[in-house]
Amino acid sequence: MPENCLQVLKNDKVGRYATASKDLQAGDVVFEEEPFAYGPKSGHPPMCLGCYLPVDCSYLCSKCSWPVCNAQCQENATHANNECKVFAESGAKFQTMADPTDICLQFECITPLRVLLAMEANKQRWDSEVACMQSHCEIRKSKPIWAFNQNNVVEYLRGPCKLTRFSEELIHRVCGILDVNSFEAHPSTGGYSIRCLYPNLAILSHNCVANTTHTIFQDLKVQCRTSVPLKKDQELYSSYAYTILPTLVRRAYLEESKYFLCDCLRCKDATELGTHLGTLKCSKCDNGVLISTEPLNFEAEWKCTHCDFRTKATAVRRVYEAIQMELDNVDANVEEPAEAIEARETLYRKYRSVMHPRNAYHTMLRLSLAQMYGKLDGYIIEDLPDLLLERKVELCMQILENLDVIEPGYTRTRGLILYELHAPLILIAKNLYKNAVITKEELKRKLNEAAEKLEEAVKILCLEPEYTQEGMLGRNAKPALERIKESFFDEILNADL
Ligand SMILES: [Zn+2]
Ligand SMILES: [Zn+2]
Ligand SMILES: [Zn+2]
Ligand SMILES: [Zn+2]
Repeated sequence: MPENCLQVLKNDKVGRYATASKDLQAGDVVFEEEPFAYGPKSGHPPMCLGCYLPVDCSYLCSKCSWPVCNAQCQENATHANNECKVFAESGAKFQTMADPTDICLQFECITPLRVLLAMEANKQRWDSEVACMQSHCEIRKSKPIWAFNQNNVVEYLRGPCKLTRFSEELIHRVCGILDVNSFEAHPSTGGYSIRCLYPNLAILSHNCVANTTHTIFQDLKVQCRTSVPLKKDQELYSSYAYTILPTLVRRAYLEESKYFLCDCLRCKDATELGTHLGTLKCSKCDNGVLISTEPLNFEAEWKCTHCDFRTKATAVRRVYEAIQMELDNVDANVEEPAEAIEARETLYRKYRSVMHPRNAYHTMLRLSLAQMYGKLDGYIIEDLPDLLLERKVELCMQILENLDVIEPGYTRTRGLILYELHAPLILIAKNLYKNAVITKEELKRKLNEAAEKLEEAVKILCLEPEYTQEGMLGRNAKPALERIKESFFDEILNADL
């Protein structure tokens, strides 16, 4: 494992937090760690307890009678050394389900149980890294989740599983720790996503503009990297929310699922640091836009920057919900490439008079469109007319304008969009030169610009593991980058135009 550049500190007001133990460059590894425990997420249909692929519950483990794919998955060490032993010894049987695609409440106990067993197996790591994690039991006691866990986890483990050595309080705390601190991972087998507990990663405070990013590898080890250069002792932040969402939605999610109200610089600023991800257009005047009068107050009024128009935050939220629903519909319907693109362009036009051009939902549409133009059948980059090449460039540039603020530096999406940007830039330059619109010098300058974008994309994407789509793109783009930098200019000049 690489050197650990994490410094854990404590402060009475915010609890534990982490800083950089030395100056770091963008993309440097801050630390790597193995999960303390991992397993199925809450609210899932049954899955193989060895590999997490969906199962029809027809094959059961010969030792514990819980669902697995086959004899091989039953031997998976995480299953065999954990719940398998407990279920086999106690005789806690899996109740077969009529519909194996339904949510399976019996699975709720698996991951908490694995955490409890990891606590016994690795007392030292539990004491130093996990016992101090936030569980927010006081707040959770008044929420429906408490009774849910009482029924499905606490009583199941202490009843049928005969694990009375774990107190009710401890089991609730473990459920809370998992709820508040888990990270989602995708097992290598391609099954359901699962939740993993990474004690160091969880120490990083949340900020709606993070300065770190992380990658979870196939073996579930996590690597945390800086996304921007950091000075020694600077605090490290990760983002627990989807950063593109507007403040009203992001903060509500954080309060609901992580039990805190974010008051970072971005949340405090009515324009979200000038990105206007939450901003709407005023319906009562031509040039005004609506922003919150008090961004940290969910109930505060929104007002126009130009006229006297005011509206309630709930009205703004309803607009977000309407477009989010339409976005989900478009995403859920698998369509022909032409339809997939047209459906998104239509939605984009439909909300143009409602949303600020840089609004989050426009940004999400742009993210899909920027990756569809140039890739989908019938829209392959070499075949795109200039008009669509320019559309792709415009989409990428507008996305980057926002990402440069909310996901600055070496972040995955920025890397992807920089990558998407280079090809249309080159093709447009080539066509302009071919049609004698630009000179040789201008061609050279435009090619350099495209090479710069690709160079940054390659740097970012190559930080991702080889077997991921991003990692592969980055590595495959290296020779193309060399060609653009070294011989492309001459190739275009010498080509039979
Ligand atoms: Zn399996
Ligand atoms: Zn078993
Ligand atoms: Zn925030
Ligand atoms: Zn107005």
